[in-house]
Amino acid sequence: MADKTPFRVIIVGAGAVGLYLGYALGLANIDYVILERKESAAAGMRNKKRTDGFTGNVLTTARFPEFMERRHGYPFVPIVRCDLPRILYHNLPDKETRIKTSSEVVAIETHSTGVQVHLKTGAVENGSLVIGADGVHSKIRSELELLYKAATGTDANVAPMMANFNGVIGRASNEDLRTEQNVLSRLAARRQSFNGEVHFATITPVPDPKPAVRQRVTMQDVEDHAASLGHVVVCRGVTFKDLWDNTGKNTLWKLNQEGLLTRWHHDRIALVGDAVHKSTSQNGLELNLGLQSAASLANELQSLLERDPLPVTSAIDQAFSRYQRTREEEVQFILRMGRKMVRDSASKSWGTWLWTRLMLPWLDIESFGYGIITSLMMIRQGLVLLYVPFIGKQGSMAWKNKPLPAL
Ligand SMILES: Cc1cc2nc3c(=O)[nH]c(=O)nc-3n(C[C@H](O)[C@H](O)[C@H](O)COP(=O)(O)OP(=O)(O)OC[C@H]3O[C@@H](n4cnc5c(N)ncnc54)[C@H](O)[C@@H]3O)c2cc1C
Repeated sequence: MADKTPFRVIIVGAGAVGLYLGYALGLANIDYVILERKESAAAGMRNKKRTDGFTGNVLTTARFPEFMERRHGYPFVPIVRCDLPRILYHNLPDKETRIKTSSEVVAIETHSTGVQVHLKTGAVENGSLVIGADGVHSKIRSELELLYKAATGTDANVAPMMANFNGVIGRASNEDLRTEQNVLSRLAARRQSFNGEVHFATITPVPDPKPAVRQRVTMQDVEDHAASLGHVVVCRGVTFKDLWDNTGKNTLWKLNQEGLLTRWHHDRIALVGDAVHKSTSQNGLELNLGLQSAASLANELQSLLERDPLPVTSAIDQAFSRYQRTREEEVQFILRMGRKMVRDSASKSWGTWLWTRLMLPWLDIESFGYGIITSLMMIRQGLVLLYVPFIGKQGSMAWKNKPLPAL
């Protein structure tokens, strides 16, 4: 691929957002490299069913995929979360030269025409700017905050990412589960990638929430957590204990972080994905938010470099500011929604009890709440890479952003 200019973007993190951003920059002929701390990139969504946790009765049925396809023209494809980086990785052009694994970034220096990125190995990468797509525990965020404080004497972000909830995420075989096979297996049958498995996540409030840091959790902690929820009815005749007894070794401990930074960029550094905005997993939109932000960032960089192949720092800063402005409103909305959803699900209040026992069975929330509201407030507004021509499809609801007409 012939890159247009000597401008070089260093993306830190080969998660789904970093890989997607690389792909998008490649389409704009912008030179880039992706630095990934792990030995391999592509190391590794789930499904949901709404039942009442007291009786196990099914409250709503998921007709969401049909509604979405009719409304937006594209099939709704659930993807197992760890498969997505793999798909993005295998389809990334020139990945052998573009991605450098075992390349943990430990420090960044910026100067008037570019950046120097220092790796744990002692190597140094030179580039024009750095994008931190390095997840919720972002090192690039810490570097940005240090540089900002040194330059201005004030803190870049005063509200850190918080770990307010935790739980486990796992997959259980549904073959031996005794009852309600029709309900449990229907999910697997509809979504073939789940291969007869039930995917589940638990969410419990952390009594003493702390800023999100990497945690070491023993298997005993995970077992204790599962035992404390053993009585919860997953569907009629099946408790969480039954599910847990059928759970394979893929179970993960998951801290459920939340947070939104006020400063998404400084100097020649910007953040994208979980590094800058993290919604709770309850609304299942963290990754979507990250991909949308990466598209917005790619659009800004493409437009900037088209006007000026070697932009100065102030022009880069303006492009980063536009990126933040474009994304902030939607991100805040989704984060507020996720915040409310996770608290409603994890609370034992009368309000929650009334809602799940009396309201949900009568209200087709899948088609109303999650259908029309999601379509109008979110999906319809989906960003496109403004510089990539293609023939878009449309359903009954018009897209807000239209692609460039195909040549
Ligand atoms: C089990 C599970 C299920 C999920 N389900 C859903 C879902 O249903 N829907 C949804 O929208 N979201 C879901 N999420 C959240 C979603 O996976 C994240 O929002 C998404 O992965 C964020 O992508 P990212 O690329 O920003 O960060 P990450 O995926 O965290 O990737 C960051 C990358 O940066 C690398 N890195 C970190 N530090 C450095 C460094 N110093 N130097 C170099 N590389 C570094 C890491 O190794 C990693 O590869 C789920 C998450 C989990 C864990």
